[in-house]
Amino acid sequence: MAFVEENKNGVVYMKSTLIPARHAFTTRLGGVSRGAFKSLNLGASRGDLNEHVAENYDILCRALDLPRDRLVFTHQIHECSVRRVTGADAHTLFTDVPYDADGLVTGEKNLALLAFTADCVPILLCEEDGRAIAAVHAGWRGTAGCIAEKAVEKLRREYGAVPEKLRAAIGPCIGKCCFEVGVEVADAMFDAIGGSAEKYVSPKTGFDGKFTVDLRGVNAHILQMAGVRAENIDISSECTMCLHEKYWSHRYTKGIRGVQAAVIIL
Ligand SMILES: [Zn+2]
Repeated sequence: MAFVEENKNGVVYMKSTLIPARHAFTTRLGGVSRGAFKSLNLGASRGDLNEHVAENYDILCRALDLPRDRLVFTHQIHECSVRRVTGADAHTLFTDVPYDADGLVTGEKNLALLAFTADCVPILLCEEDGRAIAAVHAGWRGTAGCIAEKAVEKLRREYGAVPEKLRAAIGPCIGKCCFEVGVEVADAMFDAIGGSAEKYVSPKTGFDGKFTVDLRGVNAHILQMAGVRAENIDISSECTMCLHEKYWSHRYTKGIRGVQAAVIIL
């Protein structure tokens, strides 16, 4: 298993060889937005021009062969609810998403699930027989709330997906190299996974009360707690803050930025 980079007419995206369904972790590259949103900004409510965002979606849908009228968005609030969605949830750009959810699951064909990030952890899940998928946004709060486990549970309950047969891809996010936090975030990781958090949380030498956290490691651990096999979890090694010219990084841009998406479709 490995993350590989693809380039379709200038749209650069990452995919995991482990995931059997069509999917992508998008980058900043390949869109038409300008200035702070240059170029593939998929955020419809961050101050970018609507016509540019709409064109970016057209470009993305052409590159990935996605049905433009069958996209479902998370409406992320840094919590842990995972929603089952159908074609009725297909979203029209520039309108409000009528629910809050940081994770989406579906068993419906030809329905693209999108989760948005810019440093937070994007996670895509796919049942190996191709019957159900999930797209998850896990920031530190969602990570600590075990949203990854909740997504696995939702796939099991709604679609009978067996955790041992799930494949997971943890996409580009802020790495331990750059994710410096206070004690509340460090403590939240220990609350979530107990002493195992020692592997993923380190005190920052010389900085009292500062820690660095490996969010992708914590999420991989949580997926394994939920029954996903370690060999069925692919983890991107790329840090969005180190690679801020390739990816949107909230921390690097101090919040003036676009959005990348993790997208998956059966
Ligand atoms: Zn980094």
